[in-house]
Formats: sequence, structure tokens, C-alpha cells
Amino acid sequence: MQDRRRLGKNIRLPDWKEAQPLLDQFERNINYLRVSITDRCNLRCTYCMPKEGLSQIGHDDILRYEEIRRIIRVATGLGITKVRITGGEPLVRRGVAEFIDSLHALPDLAEISLTTNGILLEACAESLFAAGIRRINISLDSLDAEKYARITRGGDIRAVLAGIRKVRETGFSPIKINIVAIKGFNDDEVLDFARLTLENPYQIRFIELMPLGHAGIENSGRYLSNNLVRERIETLGKLEPVNGPANGSDGPARIYRLEGGLGEIGFISPVSRHFCNSCNRLRLTAEGHLRICLLSDDETDLKTPLRAGCTDSDLEGLIRGAISRKPRQHEMSCTDPNVKKCMKEMQEIGG
Ligand code: SAM
Repeated sequence: MQDRRRLGKNIRLPDWKEAQPLLDQFERNINYLRVSITDRCNLRCTYCMPKEGLSQIGHDDILRYEEIRRIIRVATGLGITKVRITGGEPLVRRGVAEFIDSLHALPDLAEISLTTNGILLEACAESLFAAGIRRINISLDSLDAEKYARITRGGDIRAVLAGIRKVRETGFSPIKINIVAIKGFNDDEVLDFARLTLENPYQIRFIELMPLGHAGIENSGRYLSNNLVRERIETLGKLEPVNGPANGSDGPARIYRLEGGLGEIGFISPVSRHFCNSCNRLRLTAEGHLRICLLSDDETDLKTPLRAGCTDSDLEGLIRGAISRKPRQHEMSCTDPNVKKCMKEMQEIGG
């Protein structure tokens, strides 16, 4: 199919999918699926997971790779073109590079990317590169070893920094570094993070803390608006917009560059400036539920029908049905305690 659509390097014939994108009831083109391949994580970030009492999905209840591949195949047949592999921590699941490699057989899948905490990245970088990953997001909430260990409940920042060096040497691009801005924890590091872009080709992205699950709600008093983060960064110099208002393939991030900087600075502001009107995504949880909005607990179970022997067209119907219920926007608020919260932890959903 891909060959039929691609005549030369840059010339593409219109095809069925371009003629009929997968639209929801608000005319949003749903083309992006975030796939959590595990709910396990080798860190315990305080704002992401509770300290104890973490419920883990049983091994048999986690989708097998062939089941995930089948769901992605059916979804790409409907109009999904981009997939991001996430978790939990995706690199703790054995066989992840082989699984990613196998996705290249899906003709309508144009882009596969990965989000990781970077702890295992140095060891995995080459096999991920060989499997075709180029776009990588790495979470790093502090540049200070002691603070990093505190927020991750024991993580070793040296492993993450080695992973970042390794992906740069290996040739991954873009390399995006995600920082959840937390009042009283890393707000004093905003300028240090921003300065990294002066000499490194990274995209440093500040993400607002969302009141998700118990851990998120407990930390909601630590929410810091990206307006404040941005004001601080502007003390370093003018922020030049990179992509203009459309923001290209960078999704919800607003991207800027400090004058003369090699890298970029992004702001993802789900709380202060939500981007629901351009939301193009679905999420597949590790236990095989399709989630239509990060912040709504409305999920469609795909695993049960899949294991009961449903057909591809049954799966298509379930995916289309889920999309038809995708809400216009989320109702999350970090300041209004009466707003209904999402009660799942981020690591359960797949960030
Ligand atoms: N383990 C991988 C990682 O660390 O990037 C992927 C999963 S993690 C859940 C994905 C992202 O979600 C991380 O960047 C993490 O910081 C972010 N995250 C978790 N809880 C969050 C919250 N309450 N608000 C905003 N971002 C959150």
C-alpha cells in the first residue's frame, strides 16, 4: 500500500486514507496511538505513583506483543499513522526492540517513537536504533543527583545522563527531554534546563503537573503554571517561536528557541492551556483497554474480545465506537477541587 502511495521521494498519490481520515464527532483527525507495553517501572516518581499499595496487572493480563501488534495493525487500517511506545517503563519489558522492529511490517504506520525514563537507555540505544526508532523522549525532572533520587525514589541520574549521551552519539533525533515542573522541587532549576539548549541539540520540554490518580492529586498543590516557567526563562533572552501557531509535528508543545541556541524549548500546558481541540490521540493501556482521553476513565476493553476470537472488523467497530465517545475536552483542574478527577495513576494509563 505504501509503495502504491509513494511515487518518488516526495510525491504521494491521494489514497483512501487521505480521502477519509479517522474523524471524531468534533472533526478531529485521530491518527496517533500511544501504546503502553507494560505498567511496570524501574522508578517510583512521587507524582506518578503511590509509594506503596501499587496494584500491578498480572502477567497474563498484560497484552502479548502479538496482540498489541494486531490492534496496531487494525488501528492503522482505520487511519492511525503514528505510534508512541510507552509504559510504565517500556525498556523494562523484554523483547521491546524486536517488537518495535516487527511494527515496520505494517504498511500504513509512518512513525514509531518511544518515551522512556532513560535508566536502561545506554544499554538499549543501539538495538532501538537498529529497530528504527529515531524520535525519543526522555524524562528527567532534575539535574541534581540527590534531588533526582528523591523524586524518583532511588533513581541514579548517572544512568540517565549516560543514556542521553548514548542516544546523541548513536544519532537519534529529535531527542526530547521532558521535565514536569513542580513547585518547590525543581522550579529553581528551570534556567539550568533552559541553558542546556544553548549548547545541545535537545528539545527541553516543560510539562505542567496534572492531578492524575492518587499520587497526582496529593501533589496538586505543587502545580506550577508554564506561564511562570516561561517568564523565568525569558530572563535569559528572547524566546523565538520555532513552528509558528500550528506547531507542526510537535503536537501539543509550543516550541521556542533562545537566540543562538542549538536546541529548543517546549511548553506543554495541559492544565493552563489545554490542547483538546487539536487532540489527535488514543491510548492503549498495558492491559488492553483503549482510552479516548488521558483524563477520562472511559475505557473500551479490547483484550477480552481479542482473546475470545473476535474478527478484525469487530475490533474496528470497537475502536470506532470508542472514538465516537471521545469528549470535546477534559475537565481537569489543579485549582478547583470540585472537578471530577481521573482516578488512575499515570503509570497505569501509559504516559
Ligand atoms: N517511564 C517512561 C517515562 O518516564 O517517560 C514513560 C511513562 S511516564 C508515565 C510518561 C511521562 O508522564 C513522564 O514524562 C512523566 O514525567 C509524566 N507524568 C507522570 N505523572 C504525571 C503527572 N501527574 N503530570 C504530568 N506528567 C506526568
